[in-house]
Amino acid sequence: MADKSFFIDTTKCTACRGCQIACKQWNRNPATKTIQRGTHQNPSDLSASTFKLVRFSEVEEPGGELRWYFFPDQCRHCMAPPCKEVADTKVKGAIIQDEATGAVVFNPKVKVKPEDFKEIRSACPYDIPRISGTGIMAKCTMCIDRIKEGMLPACVKTCPTGAMSFGDRKEILEKASGRLEEVKKKYKDAMLANPEDVRTIYLLVDDPKKYHKYAVAENTIGITRKFALRRLLKPLKELSLMG
Ligand code: SF4
Ligand code: SF4
Repeated sequence: MADKSFFIDTTKCTACRGCQIACKQWNRNPATKTIQRGTHQNPSDLSASTFKLVRFSEVEEPGGELRWYFFPDQCRHCMAPPCKEVADTKVKGAIIQDEATGAVVFNPKVKVKPEDFKEIRSACPYDIPRISGTGIMAKCTMCIDRIKEGMLPACVKTCPTGAMSFGDRKEILEKASGRLEEVKKKYKDAMLANPEDVRTIYLLVDDPKKYHKYAVAENTIGITRKFALRRLLKPLKELSLMG
């Protein structure tokens, strides 16, 4: 099985939340009790039982016009996942990367201490990891159980507008670049969010911050390097302590 990727074309997203519900249903995650907060975004955030969340952001443009930005948020399944870099130094086996597909999966059999989770979450440039009350980390699994059986991830299968695609990484990258060229004719600021670093590639047509604070990472490779360097320096530190 080849390296896989998602493509999320936000220009086609109507915020119907079909993907969010399909994710809940396939993962047998319970519904989340919510309250009216004056927004259509519901629930308010990702959690250990909400792996996919359609974020709604209402922005007032300079002329006073209000504009909605929809962002179906989920794990990016990073090429070199910083969450795993940290987890490997804390709780071995807590985060696994599937060699064939590249899916980054949190191991539901491994408990993680709150202080270790804090470091794992802060390593993620997209603020994705969440933890249950019993110390089990959770997030999008890329529907690895479905894709190993030749099915599409539940969210992609459900999307009625074609905003979500999934497939072999090479083809998805080609599709994303092709669509970017097309969209750029109308939206000069259109961009792909960190396409070289992640397996969930978003097409955005405006300032990423208008969609979501963590829509784009400034430099994921830099973050990965920081942890690699920390690992490299650790034995030297230990030596100096011994001396
Ligand atoms: S998006 Fe965050 S949780 Fe997902 S693989 Fe990347 S670092 Fe890990
Ligand atoms: S199912 Fe498709 S159109 Fe509906 S919210 Fe999700 S990505 Fe957007």
